[in-house]
Amino acid sequence: MKEKGILVVVSGFAGAGKGTLMKQLLSEHDNYALSVSATSRSPRPGEQEGISYFYKTKEEFEAMIERDELLEHACYVGNYYGTPKKFVCEQLDAGKDVVLEIEIQGAMQIKKKFPEALLLFVMPPSAEILKNRLVGRGTETAEVIEQRMKRAAEESEGIEDYDFIVINDDIDKCTETMHNIIQSAKFMPLRQKDFITKVREELKEIN
Ligand code: 5GP
Repeated sequence: MKEKGILVVVSGFAGAGKGTLMKQLLSEHDNYALSVSATSRSPRPGEQEGISYFYKTKEEFEAMIERDELLEHACYVGNYYGTPKKFVCEQLDAGKDVVLEIEIQGAMQIKKKFPEALLLFVMPPSAEILKNRLVGRGTETAEVIEQRMKRAAEESEGIEDYDFIVINDDIDKCTETMHNIIQSAKFMPLRQKDFITKVREELKEIN
């Protein structure tokens, strides 16, 4: 049987470059599967159903909660976001390392439900660089940028609840670091319980 994959949560401030990082990680390594979330927010230009998100009405989303179809869910800036359970479980069983790109409230629910999940927080090298990136995108108004910077200050209070921070100064280096962290974290004893138990049993039989 193939070894089960690891569940990886990636959070970070808006503008920290999570999206680009995820794309690069998936294009360079075929052991990862990226979970597609459900959301009640409207699609942005260029986003695609089933690729960016599964777009739901509030009622449809609440029905998914009722039917226990989500691993976690949260309300973020007035909209629901959640991780469909089925895809994640199937991919983990198939040996894929499954990445959830989710915000902090959802990350804490995953940590509680799955103590063996690995939690990463992507940070910019400085607050100034974060602001410059948000301004540089050119998609947000000054007011929205200010809101996002305030939100980043709030979210920064929760970083110590994560296992690792990943500093996004250079995208290639950062992708490699992230991959190395994930692959190393697999060998922490809490994620190798079955293997450790197996060898322990074998040792008892041999001795
Ligand atoms: P956006 O609307 O900009 O696509 O996403 C807003 C925030 O929601 C981001 O921080 C993103 O990581 C987070 N998010 C996306 N999908 C999920 C999800 O399934 N669950 C939770 N808790 N957060 C999500």
